[in-house]
Amino acid sequence: MGYFKTHKIDADTYYITEPLGVGAYLFLGNDRALLSDTGYGYMDIGKPVARITDMPPIVMNTHGHADHAGGDTRFKEIYIHPADAPLLDPNRQKEQRDLLFGYAKKVYPFLTPILFFLELRRTEKYKPVVKALDDGHLFDLGGRVLESIHFPGHTPGSVILADRRTKTLYAGDAVNHGLFLFFPDSPTLREYAAALRKLARLQGFERIRVSHGLTEFPFGFIEYYADFLERATLEKSERTDIPNGATPVLKYTEPGEAYGVSEISALFTEGSLAG
Ligand SMILES: [Zn+2]
Repeated sequence: MGYFKTHKIDADTYYITEPLGVGAYLFLGNDRALLSDTGYGYMDIGKPVARITDMPPIVMNTHGHADHAGGDTRFKEIYIHPADAPLLDPNRQKEQRDLLFGYAKKVYPFLTPILFFLELRRTEKYKPVVKALDDGHLFDLGGRVLESIHFPGHTPGSVILADRRTKTLYAGDAVNHGLFLFFPDSPTLREYAAALRKLARLQGFERIRVSHGLTEFPFGFIEYYADFLERATLEKSERTDIPNGATPVLKYTEPGEAYGVSEISALFTEGSLAG
């Protein structure tokens, strides 16, 4: 059984998942391919890509978290928004994995030996040249153009990819049924809801895809999620045991069946409820 699984989304789009619950998208045009995110980097994501296309992909990160940019060191050149470039520092990547998995290993002790061996498989093959992925950057793949939308919040340099040809927004973690907004520089829920409402005014899009899961969300999910964030209160939220320094992480949840997921959630700190 392979480490990566490939899901064909449409004629020219693939979603490549790895067992720890994250996926990367591969977009094909007539002349070029674009790989959005590189996963944890434990195994070579270039291999499933090469099974799909002969075109060496342009590589980008939706943001700098270790489950999205961990495989960057397997490529010579990557695009990322400048605000997230500092997150690519190998020490900061390791810190993020330790934080993420410290919690996961507590909940699922069987992960400890698996992660130990996966960590040995990591490689720092390249120190990739980092190119700026600014707002409005166009990736012209030949007959298909994907445009980046800078959407700070989940991280300062998060970007969403807009594919007008398939009327789809590829949101990374920026729009998501389980949004993490508990980082030191996270916006308040109200601020994020306002940004989502602005995004919801984009014309010509019908659906959203996310990094963590195969579920396709209707475009209207953006507006729903903005309302959802504004319904969150301290009383309706529960405390999680996700480590976040001295600040407790809170979780607000609503049922997600209407959108084909078990629950819709947001994770944040008490400070995010201000304003
Ligand atoms: Zn993330």
